[in-house]
Amino acid sequence: VASTDQRLTSILDLVRARGGRITTPRRAIITALLAADNEHVTAEQLADTVQQAHPDVHRSTVYRTLDALSEMGVIGHVHLGHSPAVYHFTDEYTDQPHHHMVCQDCGRVVELPLSVLTSLQASISRDYGFDLDATHFALTGRCSDCR
Ligand SMILES: [Zn+2]
Ligand SMILES: [Zn+2]
Ligand SMILES: [Zn+2]
Repeated sequence: VASTDQRLTSILDLVRARGGRITTPRRAIITALLAADNEHVTAEQLADTVQQAHPDVHRSTVYRTLDALSEMGVIGHVHLGHSPAVYHFTDEYTDQPHHHMVCQDCGRVVELPLSVLTSLQASISRDYGFDLDATHFALTGRCSDCR
């Protein structure tokens, strides 16, 4: 498992490789998302964390920067339920891309490797001609504790 510093370095390299400059807001957001340690955090929570370290970075800049990093495919958001979207790293170099299951009783989030749904996606594609993207919304149900 890579250390936080190593991950920060590889994520910044990825931003550069995709034609992006390393600005203070970009570095601050990536650092805040790393500090969340694979918890899924909202744009509001990220803006709070960034502003603690960089009071001069305006919230609107944080939201714009989230969009820019999303367009580069470095981060992404997912809708876990009725609450605001949450952010995570999406690139295979920085994190394992995954699906999400959220427990509708306790709110626990369980990550699933993409491969778990591969055969379902293949049969949906074959039978319905529909290209399923299950990464943007969480699957819902009850976790092992709540069921
Ligand atoms: Zn969305
Ligand atoms: Zn995630
Ligand atoms: Zn639960």
